[in-house]
Amino acid sequence: MLDILIQNGVVTDGTGKQAFRADVAITAGRIAVVARDIQQEAKRTIEAQGLHVAPGFIDPHTHSDLTLLVDPRAESKIRQGVTTEVIGNCGFSPAPLLGAAMEEVRDETKRLGLNVTWTSMTEYLEHLRQPGTAVNVVPLVGHNIVRGAVLGFDDVQPTPEQQADMERLVADALEQGARGLSSGLFYPPGFYAWTEEVIELARVAARYGGIYASHIRNETNRLLEAVAEAIEIGKRAETQVEISHVKLEGYRNWEGVDRLLAMLEDADSQGVRVGCDQYPYTAGASWLAYILPYWAQAGGTKAVAERLRDPEVRARLTKDWEENRAEWEDRGGMRDWTDLLITDCAPRPKVQGKNIADIAADEGKDPLEAVFDLIVVSEGQVECVCFGQLEENVRALMRHPLVVVGSDGDALAPHGVLAQGKPHPRSYGTFPRVLGRYVREERVLSLEEAVKKMTSVTAERFGLTDRGVIREGAWADLVLFDAQTVADKATYTDPHQYPVGISEVIVNGVVVVDQGQHTGALPGQLL
Ligand SMILES: [Zn+2]
Repeated sequence: MLDILIQNGVVTDGTGKQAFRADVAITAGRIAVVARDIQQEAKRTIEAQGLHVAPGFIDPHTHSDLTLLVDPRAESKIRQGVTTEVIGNCGFSPAPLLGAAMEEVRDETKRLGLNVTWTSMTEYLEHLRQPGTAVNVVPLVGHNIVRGAVLGFDDVQPTPEQQADMERLVADALEQGARGLSSGLFYPPGFYAWTEEVIELARVAARYGGIYASHIRNETNRLLEAVAEAIEIGKRAETQVEISHVKLEGYRNWEGVDRLLAMLEDADSQGVRVGCDQYPYTAGASWLAYILPYWAQAGGTKAVAERLRDPEVRARLTKDWEENRAEWEDRGGMRDWTDLLITDCAPRPKVQGKNIADIAADEGKDPLEAVFDLIVVSEGQVECVCFGQLEENVRALMRHPLVVVGSDGDALAPHGVLAQGKPHPRSYGTFPRVLGRYVREERVLSLEEAVKKMTSVTAERFGLTDRGVIREGAWADLVLFDAQTVADKATYTDPHQYPVGISEVIVNGVVVVDQGQHTGALPGQLL
């Protein structure tokens, strides 16, 4: 007796091979048979006439580390067809939490109503295991958190002993279940680190077969240098490199897409294992403080807010803004203040969904003063999106075989504490947006290519065996969608909206989304 029989669907198997009509049978969490007209009896039959049956989507770049603890149902992800999330990205992992790293995370958890009751990766993962999660989880350990734990968030370099301490923390995390190292060299304290420090840590990850994923040092005027650094780290640490949320940010840099792709191809042809992920939007999202010069970002989130209370610091920053405007625009990626939209600022909900120019006009102040005030009033916990990219570049990157789909979003929900603010719509819309807008409407990719970029390529990069493909023996992570109607609904002003056209999602052989509704099942595994 089969557990589940999916009948009459069009199988898009994740390999890029042309979609074909077949039934898919599931037993004991795995795909048992893929064939036409399977006649065996099943406990549950799902009629998939008119639907595509694809491997569950693998999201290689998420920040769901804490939100999965708030709501393990992973609503905004599972409803996109995502069955596996890679967490701990951009250098910020949920463990190990020691010293200043603990303080940094504690502020963020407060906003989510969580108590930090763990320090090690083992302890954190235990919180995921109990009660379980709807999606499979692949954890990474973050360089920024490891550096914060050993050195704090200041502009300092490690002694040999401190470097050894960081290496030990990375090794411990890998031993306890992390699948690689992430870095956030664009964020404090990652941006203080020299390349050698990161290479040594990536080597430790590589010893355990771990990947190196990076929010690279610069995505604007020094993008190519930053890509070169990532490639060098991968080459010298002898590991797979994942360049996170690849983009050309800032209007002065929009013309560099061919050079960027040539550089990646070059590295690839030299045998460096390098890949990228991308979200299908022209806006990025970040903490508002990221637009400040590095010296002003030192010391951790709270320290940044505290610093901005000082009128002398504000005067120094204002002078710097006037004299080095291009540098600010490059760091921020914005052309003017209308490009920066506040998405989350709990103490001032009125500003959510408004851009800095409008907020400043409403409050009758200079835009830079408005920025400083928002950071101060929120103690640094203020987030924004920035419209800094060119649509044609989004398409050009998407078409490239080295680029896969990844959300850079969190598992959220349109209810409860996860419905706060107006977060970037990518948390709800990434995968259906590629299938609807870029496959069906604009034909940037074929459906088979798009699904491949959401499944098997990513699985291979992260070393996830028996995932990301539909074949006999593989884990039964599956999504059923209607290629004619699948679409994202989330927008910048109204982001908490599920996509449409995705009817069933199965994780490890258990139905989690059934006719568009979450069943409450939590069959995800730690991979
Ligand atoms: Zn990032």
